[in-house]
Amino acid sequence: MTAPTITEFIAANLARIEQVAREATPGPWRWEEPSAGDWPDGDESLVSDGKHTPGGHPETVLYGWGYDASGIEGRDEDRAHIALHDPAHVLAWVAGLRAVVEMHRTWADDPWPECEVCRRPPPCPTIRAIACIFADQPGYDEGWRA
Ligand SMILES: [Zn+2]
Repeated sequence: MTAPTITEFIAANLARIEQVAREATPGPWRWEEPSAGDWPDGDESLVSDGKHTPGGHPETVLYGWGYDASGIEGRDEDRAHIALHDPAHVLAWVAGLRAVVEMHRTWADDPWPECEVCRRPPPCPTIRAIACIFADQPGYDEGWRA
């Protein structure tokens, strides 16, 4: 098996992220306020405003349950980060990156290949920078580093 090209590597990682986002509960996500009840159940749940139960309530994405373990511990900053990265946001991010990759294409049959935008030999700095997003993933070639 040959190593993937930098654009194949980017495409495979975007496809993996897209698949995970499509299988998750649709967004937007938000955290419910704590109920302050004596016997909270599902308190401070992460819910979706993009999907509702048959009863019209926001679909639960993440919640705590149990006799005395109700509620979810988490810093406000971490909660905001999780809610921000709901599937709709991630899918938009994937689409944007795919568009940038497409803009920075190189024609394979060009005798002097260069990026359509950067006018540099492939992989151009933009493609290298996008690949760096996935530098922690298997198959990343350190030679691609921008
Ligand atoms: Zn370019």
